Amino acid sequence: MEDHIRVSDISNYLKCPRQVYYTYKESRPVNPITSSYVESLLIREMARSYADVVRSGDMDDALQELLDVAAHQLTAIYREELRDIDEEMLFEAVEVVRSHLEGIKCGILESVERLGGNRLVELLTSHDTEPVLYSKKFGLSGSPDRLLMVDDVPGLSIIRTGRAPESGIWKNDRIRLTALSILMEEEYDCVVGSGTVEYARYGIVRNTKIKRSDRRKVLVLAGRIRKIRGGRLPHRPDDAPCDYCSYAELCQVAPTLASKFF
Ligand code: SF4
Repeated sequence: MEDHIRVSDISNYLKCPRQVYYTYKESRPVNPITSSYVESLLIREMARSYADVVRSGDMDDALQELLDVAAHQLTAIYREELRDIDEEMLFEAVEVVRSHLEGIKCGILESVERLGGNRLVELLTSHDTEPVLYSKKFGLSGSPDRLLMVDDVPGLSIIRTGRAPESGIWKNDRIRLTALSILMEEEYDCVVGSGTVEYARYGIVRNTKIKRSDRRKVLVLAGRIRKIRGGRLPHRPDDAPCDYCSYAELCQVAPTLASKFF
């Protein structure tokens, strides 16, 4: 399944098509572990058990406990990624996440009010966790954070640890959900009508319909990525996030006229 386009490639393409090119052409430079990376892993691990927080009688206690468990288990779960982490950085990240707990609680309470407690628990309960899904038909692969069953209808959700939009979900997350829905539909021979994004740093859970126009977009983007994998260096977008890109040193090549069309 090595030749499959990954859903993460589609997400990277939306940030910058050139990142996809370098992902396939160059070995990724090893970046030092940062405290914010460790924070995001802690939040991701906690989010897996937010349903327990919704069901608990004391959300403050439940969140503190989740954080303690995540901190204790993190280096065992992310063995490879956190191989060189020092204790001080882990401690620092745990304390930053602790400072977010009140905000997470408020977000969960707001989600309970908006969706209802039972529905929220359903949306936070995994029927399978991080399954790797394949589409033979479209040559795609990817892994949702949860497979869901809501009102006997299959669905899926992704956990995001970055900023949440004021309302709705980010475009990149919508496209990611759509790509994963296409995979799930082929794997389980079902129709996925909606997907869920958990903005875990804020305790916010948002459900969205899977749109036909986004399905089309996913398939178009997969085709473009296939061309990039075939060796085409894509145009560098004006708003590319170069300041945070690990390929910045490599990416000094002036775009060719032909590359601008991809
Ligand atoms: S340095 Fe900028 S243009 Fe180049 S791959 Fe990274 S984000 Fe894209």
